[in-house]
Amino acid sequence: MEKLSLSAWLDEANASTLSFGRFCLQTQALELELTEIELSERMKQTLSVMQQAIAYGLTGVRSTGGLVGGVGLQLQQYSTGDQAARSLLGPLAAKAAAYALAANEANAAMGKICAAPTAGSSGVLPGVLFAIAEDRGINQDDLSVALLVAGAIGMVIASRASLSGAEGGCQAECGSAAAMAAGAVVDLLGGSPDQVGHAAALALKNLLGLVCDPVAGLVEVPCVKRNAGAAIIALLAADMALAGIKSVIPIDEVIDAMATVGRAMNADLRETGLGGLAATPTGLECAERIFGAKNHPLE
Ligand code: SF4
Repeated sequence: MEKLSLSAWLDEANASTLSFGRFCLQTQALELELTEIELSERMKQTLSVMQQAIAYGLTGVRSTGGLVGGVGLQLQQYSTGDQAARSLLGPLAAKAAAYALAANEANAAMGKICAAPTAGSSGVLPGVLFAIAEDRGINQDDLSVALLVAGAIGMVIASRASLSGAEGGCQAECGSAAAMAAGAVVDLLGGSPDQVGHAAALALKNLLGLVCDPVAGLVEVPCVKRNAGAAIIALLAADMALAGIKSVIPIDEVIDAMATVGRAMNADLRETGLGGLAATPTGLECAERIFGAKNHPLE
């Protein structure tokens, strides 16, 4: 499969004086043989699934394995209720983290989600996009364009590296989600195509090397809370890029480095549930409690 290049797309957008989002809307509509309005409508359906996942998570649902549940709601209540003054993140970042937790808890509870890019990392984009949309009064049309930016970044990562924890570790899931969200936010807030690329690179660099180590082999621990961390990194990367801070390593090279790091990871750290947090005494206890010693997934 031919490797895509985000840098090439960003250059094309620059040359055509389009924002990267408008460039993605035009090129994707052409590729899919849809009108821009039809494509935007499709993106709005996806946004609706994301929004419903957040809402479901915020009801305090518990996961099927019983390891997680209610933390999105807990962070939302902490950061907006009586203790709001103690919250360190500020309203926007706290909301993004709470929403990311909630949307990923919806996944762990077998609710309907949008795997963007995967189920395990499905909280990051909704968390960041809807927190910003509410904070800045951004409409669905603009959000749908931001989603296309995120999709373009994800497509390039899939072609040059991987979006799968089994192949590349959690850097490929939560790292990619953070890169997609960071680039989308920069475009949403009027950043240039170059800044979109720097945001994606800065986010991915900050999660490079992250292993995939799901306790009991379930997409619950550490997945749900990692979504919140990735959402915060996405916001930081977007802010850095919008401030004019550049990634020394260009985005395509960062993605290639992620692929190399993924290949170097031991299989225990690539979704087998055999290493990292899954192999801690508590992680093993959790697995035994859920599956019983005889049916232990790690044996
Ligand atoms: S730890 Fe593994 S299963 Fe969990 S979100 Fe990360 S890549 Fe997915």
